[in-house]
Amino acid sequence: MQHDDHLIEAKHLLSELVAFPSISADGNVAITDFLAAALQASGARIWTEPDATGQKLNLFATIGPDAPAGVILSGHTDVVPVADQPWSTDPFTLTERDGRLYGRGSCDMKGFIAACVTMAPAFARRALKVPVHFAFTYDEEIGCFGAQALTASLVARGLRPAAAIIGEPTMMQLIDGHKGCYEYTTWITGREGHGSSPDLGVNAVEYAARFALKLIELRERLKTMAPDDCPFDPPHTTINPGLLSGGSAHNIIPGKARIDWEMRPVQASDADFVKDEIARFVNDTLLPAMQGVDPGCTIQTETVAEVAGLVPMPDNPARDLVTELTGANGAGLVPFGTEAGLFQAIGIPSVIYGPGAIAQAHKPDEYLAVEQLAQCLRFLDRLGARLERGAVAGAL
Ligand SMILES: [Zn+2]
Repeated sequence: MQHDDHLIEAKHLLSELVAFPSISADGNVAITDFLAAALQASGARIWTEPDATGQKLNLFATIGPDAPAGVILSGHTDVVPVADQPWSTDPFTLTERDGRLYGRGSCDMKGFIAACVTMAPAFARRALKVPVHFAFTYDEEIGCFGAQALTASLVARGLRPAAAIIGEPTMMQLIDGHKGCYEYTTWITGREGHGSSPDLGVNAVEYAARFALKLIELRERLKTMAPDDCPFDPPHTTINPGLLSGGSAHNIIPGKARIDWEMRPVQASDADFVKDEIARFVNDTLLPAMQGVDPGCTIQTETVAEVAGLVPMPDNPARDLVTELTGANGAGLVPFGTEAGLFQAIGIPSVIYGPGAIAQAHKPDEYLAVEQLAQCLRFLDRLGARLERGAVAGAL
């Protein structure tokens, strides 16, 4: 088939994918069943795995030899909500105008998925020496929970693909790094009392303030812990206390307080350091003081999301592969998180390389330029030809 035919088919498939309103909270079973059927019809071997609720599905599909290696094409099937956004067209009806395809998820990131599935029959027609895998996940937008489950499954199944390409929108620019993004809410429960007798209560706001000061102290220490030549901006792990609330009136000892905070680690060891330091401070200093007054006092930290960073590596076969296929001149960094770090964490070299601009993601009138979709299809065609030839530098 010619490139033009691929493009017509990919646009049609994208219109079908956009018509599934797969907002994270609502689940992605329908769109995943649809993609599974399409890949199976193209000759792929597939498996799906639900989450605990049964409302969400991961899909993994393979074309080519039954080998542990191969190249993963990774995307998420969930999208962010459209509520309260001023769209000019129906967000779930793909609308082409002036070389752009408008619709929720067109750029983030159903366009990439449409391109991958459009090319599946072409992959299947080739005598691939190295398999190509499709990994389509749930809940990327609310914490990468699908990819966490999927990467655990790959390990359990003994699958160890040699490279992963995450097709998040980078305008088809090669990306090999981003910081992690770890978000938490810490709830502090003290004991209420009258403001005139501070010693008879446990002031939750006071302990929240001490907790926040600890975060700020750790933030300063992290500045000295970054690896040499850390490429990120700023070049070290950061912490931000983003919300601090509690109490009701000037003469009441507050019984409850809350801190929302995040860290953006440049390396996994920094995240471990912060978690260890916080746990020690809470267990050795804050809780004994609080519970000395009232044993019912607690400090509980809820994990909102922990999205692993993608650490730029000196050796990265995924980067070498995309560089070879595109002639890319080096790799860059992005300021947003993706599922790539989760693949890297289980030992699969990863890059981010996909159609569309992140500036359009999550916005009203989100769009994917037709030209970007076409460029992605041409890339996947070259990838198929490359996998037909066999291993790349012994890595695949
Ligand atoms: Zn995305």
